[in-house]
Amino acid sequence: MPKEKNISANPVAVVTGGGRGIGRAVCLELARRGFSVIVNYAHSADAAEQTRKECAELGVEALAVKADVSDHDEAKGLIDAAMIKFGRIDVLVNNAGITRDGLMMKMSPEDFDAVIRTNLNGAFNCMKHVSRAMLKARAGSIVNVASIVGLTGNAGQVNYAASKAGVVAMTKSAAKELGSRGVRVNAVAPGYIETDMTKDLPQEAAAAFADQIALKRLGQPEDVARVVAFLASEDAGYVTGQVICVDGGIVM
Ligand code: NAP
Repeated sequence: MPKEKNISANPVAVVTGGGRGIGRAVCLELARRGFSVIVNYAHSADAAEQTRKECAELGVEALAVKADVSDHDEAKGLIDAAMIKFGRIDVLVNNAGITRDGLMMKMSPEDFDAVIRTNLNGAFNCMKHVSRAMLKARAGSIVNVASIVGLTGNAGQVNYAASKAGVVAMTKSAAKELGSRGVRVNAVAPGYIETDMTKDLPQEAAAAFADQIALKRLGQPEDVARVVAFLASEDAGYVTGQVICVDGGIVM
C-alpha cells in the first residue's frame, strides 16, 4: 500500500471515465455536494482536465488521473493515486464503459473481449483495489453504472449486455461480501442517455425510441448523476445490492 501523507477533511470520490458524458456529470454533482473528486480517464486528457477544472471551480480539490481501468495494475495505480493524495476514498463510481455493437454472428472475438474487459473487468479491478481501504475504514459506497440492456438484453449488443449483466451480478455479490463491514454496493441502470456513446443514432430512431419511454424524453447525464449521488450518500445508508433503473420508465 502507498504511504498516505494526510487525510482529507472532505469526503473523496473516484469516478472512472469521469472526463466525459455521464462520468463528467457525476464528477460535477459530487463536487457540488462537497466531495473531492478524482477524475479518471484513459484517452481524453483534455476533457478530464476540463472536468477537473470545473470541479475545482466549485470549491473542492480535484485531480485528473490517467488509467486504463481494464488493466489490473493501472486500476491499482488509480486507487493508489487517490489514497496518496487524499488518504481516504469514500465513494467509487465505476462508470467507464465502451460499446462495440454488432450482430452476434458477425461479432469478432476481439470486440467481445474488449467490451467485457473494460465494462466488467474494469469495475472488478477498481472494486477489488478500493475494497481494502473501505474495509479498513468500515465505510464506503460503490456505485456501478450498469445498463437496462444488462436486464433486458438487446439485439446487436451481446457483448455489452453480457458485460452489464455481469456488473449487476457482481454488484449484488460484492454487496453481500462487504455489507457486514459497512460498505454498500449498488448499481444504476441507465436507459437511453444523450452522450457521445449514443450520438450516432439517427434522429428518427432516437425520436421513435423516446416515444416508447413513459416520460417521453431521452435522458441526460445529469438525470443519472443525481441518482448516483443519492446512492453514494448517507441518504441511501440502508440501501445495498440494489439496481435502480434511470430510464424514464422503460423497464418496469
Ligand atoms: P461516453 O460518453 O462514451 O463516455 C465513456 C467514458 O468511459 C469516457 O469518459 C471514457 O474515457 C471512459 N472509458 C472508456 N474506456 C475506459 C478505460 N479503459 N479506462 C478508463 N476510462 C474509460 O459514454 P457514457 O454514455 O457517458 O457512458 C458512461 C457509462 O454509462 C458507461 O458505462 C455506459 O456503458 C453506461 N451507460 C450509458 C448509456 C447511454 O445511453 N449513454 C446507457 C446505459 C449505460 P476516455 O475518453 O478517456 O477513454
